[in-house]
Amino acid sequence: MVFKSTRSVWIIYCIHMFHILHEGIAQSIKEVILLDSKAQQTELEWISSPPNGWEEISGLDENYTPIRTYQVCQVMEPNQNNWLRTNWIAKGNAQRIFVEMKFTLRDCNSLPGVLGTCKETFNLYYHDTDYDVGRNIRESQYVKIDTIAADESFTQGDLGERKMKLNTEVRDIGPLSKKGFYLAFQDVGACIALVSVKVYYKKCWTIIENLAVFPDTVTGSEFSSLVEVQGTCVSNAEEEADNSPKMHCSAEGEWLVPIGKCICKAGFQQKGDVCEPCGRGFYKSSSQDLQCSRCPAHSFSDKEGSSRCDCEDGYYRAFSDPPSAACTRPPSAPQNLIYNINQTTVSLEWSPPADTGGRTDVTYRILCKRCSWEQSECVSCGSNVGFVPQQAGLVDTYVTIMDLLAHANYTFEVEAVNGVSDLSRTQRLFAAVSITTSQAAPSQVSGVTKERVLQRSVELSWQEPEHPNGVITEYEIKYYEKDQRERTYSTVKIKSTSATINNLKPGTVYAFQIRAFTAAGYGIYCPRIEVATLEEATATAVSSEQNPVIIIAVVAVAGTIILVFMVFGFIIGRRHCGYSKADQEGDEELYFHFKFPGTKTYIDPETYEDPNRAVHQFAKELDASCIKIERVIGAGEFGEVCSGRLKLPGKRDAPVAIKTLKVGYTEKQRRDFLCEASIMGQFDHPNVVHLEGVVTRGKPVMIVLEYMENGALDAFLRKHDGQFTVIQLVGMLRGIAAGMRYLSDMGYVHRDLAARNILVNSNLVCKVSDFGLSRVIEDDPEAVYTTTGGKIPVRWTAPEAIQYRKFTSASDVWSYGIVMWEVMSYGERPYWDMSNQDVIKAIEEGYRLPAPMDCPPGLHQLMLECWQKERGERPKFEQIVGILDKMIRNPNSLKTPLGPCSR
Ligand code: ADP
Repeated sequence: MVFKSTRSVWIIYCIHMFHILHEGIAQSIKEVILLDSKAQQTELEWISSPPNGWEEISGLDENYTPIRTYQVCQVMEPNQNNWLRTNWIAKGNAQRIFVEMKFTLRDCNSLPGVLGTCKETFNLYYHDTDYDVGRNIRESQYVKIDTIAADESFTQGDLGERKMKLNTEVRDIGPLSKKGFYLAFQDVGACIALVSVKVYYKKCWTIIENLAVFPDTVTGSEFSSLVEVQGTCVSNAEEEADNSPKMHCSAEGEWLVPIGKCICKAGFQQKGDVCEPCGRGFYKSSSQDLQCSRCPAHSFSDKEGSSRCDCEDGYYRAFSDPPSAACTRPPSAPQNLIYNINQTTVSLEWSPPADTGGRTDVTYRILCKRCSWEQSECVSCGSNVGFVPQQAGLVDTYVTIMDLLAHANYTFEVEAVNGVSDLSRTQRLFAAVSITTSQAAPSQVSGVTKERVLQRSVELSWQEPEHPNGVITEYEIKYYEKDQRERTYSTVKIKSTSATINNLKPGTVYAFQIRAFTAAGYGIYCPRIEVATLEEATATAVSSEQNPVIIIAVVAVAGTIILVFMVFGFIIGRRHCGYSKADQEGDEELYFHFKFPGTKTYIDPETYEDPNRAVHQFAKELDASCIKIERVIGAGEFGEVCSGRLKLPGKRDAPVAIKTLKVGYTEKQRRDFLCEASIMGQFDHPNVVHLEGVVTRGKPVMIVLEYMENGALDAFLRKHDGQFTVIQLVGMLRGIAAGMRYLSDMGYVHRDLAARNILVNSNLVCKVSDFGLSRVIEDDPEAVYTTTGGKIPVRWTAPEAIQYRKFTSASDVWSYGIVMWEVMSYGERPYWDMSNQDVIKAIEEGYRLPAPMDCPPGLHQLMLECWQKERGERPKFEQIVGILDKMIRNPNSLKTPLGPCSR
């Protein structure tokens, strides 16, 4: 409404302006004539009453054309009332009519002796009726329009000759509601000659304005009224969006205030009042464009009126290219391809193609084929080969290809692609090299198993590395007392895949690591396996290993102790799950469970030959019918992560998160997926995400975890930026530190501690999650390849772990410091947008992250301690928990000093 009224005000204003602007510009009057007395040469035969009043007289007009006039001149006698009435006039479409009268009138002063009776005016009347009412004039039916006076009058000419002065008066009548009307002229005693009478109405005649046709339109009934008329677009034109064409027909028969317009459709352009088609070789893609344009390079239009041009043969337009873009083609092959082999890693470098195909979006992709020695048979390299930065979509002209087989033939094809490569059916153009990898050290040994554990000896067996890359000539076993933490260690060399290590201390935890040796050198050590030798049974126990009787006695005593711990451990250790892990347990596992009932030791599931066994060792098999999946909450590496409910017999149902293994998995994927459960199942701490169980006997394979309502910590903090108190943030950090203290006490090194791997529940309790072996890091999108090989989340990782893969609880402490910084800055990215290389360099030069905004100095100090270069100088998780507890007890220590802060 507001809009409408503003608009009508605007229209009125425009009309006003229009009149001002057009004043003086002669406009041809748009008249439709209903009656013109001059046009008729025969008698008019209007009604005169009384009959001796008005008199029809033939005369000549100023051009000496014969005309019919009516005259009356009864000036001598008083009380004149002479009526002259026209014939009935049909009004047609008119709503408002105009009457133009031409007449002469004699000046009373010029007539002697008429004072008192002579008049100098006459009256104009009308009467509207639907039909002719006959010859009677009933005065009461007539409506007076006006009294008409003369501007000029008769005067006596100098020569006594009568000089006629013609008066012209126009009056308008409306609105008229009947089909027709009469006009009447009343004389009350003047001397008049009615020379002509013209009756007409006005019309706005059809026009084309802004490519819209406006039809003939009769003006409105009120003098001030405007008739709004909708235009129709000329052919091949369309209305502009939300702007349909309108004009206004004024009472004067003029078109006013054009609004909106039509525009030529795609393929057409305006010429005068028509839309003409674009010529051949031209196009117009949208009605919004004004003109047709010439077809862009390598395209054509072979018919008139084209809205787009087709590409020439061999040229294409990408889906995202606008019609105005030139057609382009795939690039030529990259040039100057060179390579460099370093054992099983190959770097390729090349120059851009000579012809980019006319595009700027050129990238590169690599095809890797492994070929037999005859070179004739090649197969795709598959997914075990790593590409850095990636295999396809490379922007730069180099790539590193890793994890190739040693001493093998490969062919690499480097292809340049652009936005139209996939549209083209022409042959692929690429640069190729064939290379042979050199000897490489063997990969890790696997399946390390304790065959026999005694007081002073341990027997281990293992399997050959998956990629020996040559003939293995020996294995090296490195071992040390766990408490000594590698400060002193011993090695044993052996040719076979099993060995007994003697001369160990009884009742001591040892760590063992094994690596293989070939002509190409040593491989890397396998993850360490910890074994505790048996306690000495009695003080006098002599060389029990040589005495079978004593062995039986010791085993019997140990067995009793084990049994006691087993019962104890069963009651204490199963608080959460109420299930038994003891299904298929052997002595080995009992040994680990009960040797240190206070501090359990983490067992690497990879040391199990049968991964299924490891899962069932530590995780409960759940019945799929107890699990109800409700909705998908995230995407994990192996499949969807869902929320749902778990109802165990005799227990209340509980919300859970369910990680599923997608269908079509390989055996390795299933193993890696369940590996996380094998690890988590060993943990039981309020700040470590709790495993409810697994479903391995049905499909899909599932891992069921406690439900963490608020999801990952980094996203959670970003969502609630600035909304927590410092005490709340420190509380979260304390929880994470406590979880990490527990894990490090268990001998577990996380390697990928970061806010994204912490989950938050509805009570803001933070729990450490994302467990696995190497795959945890492999799957982390933050992890990148480093020069030492392997993927590492650089920003979170301690320098010694980046440089020589020294992952320890002390490197976890470094990562914890980064988590502290992430928490205190509400999920800011550590080192912001610095590149990984710059981060490594800056850390090496001693640079450390500054305190986040509003971060208490004490907390930043603690971060800096976690980031000590010497890992021995970093605090232990135990100490970190203590420091945070102190801060929480004494909130004054968390006050931030006022002043400018840096984020
Ligand atoms: P993966 O390690 O297999 O890649 P994640 O453990 O990272 O999978 O899980 C993917 C996403 O699913 C997480 O970022 C988180 O949002 C959600 N999620 C995982 N576990 C839970 C849980 N226990 N409670 C709530 N959400 C979870």
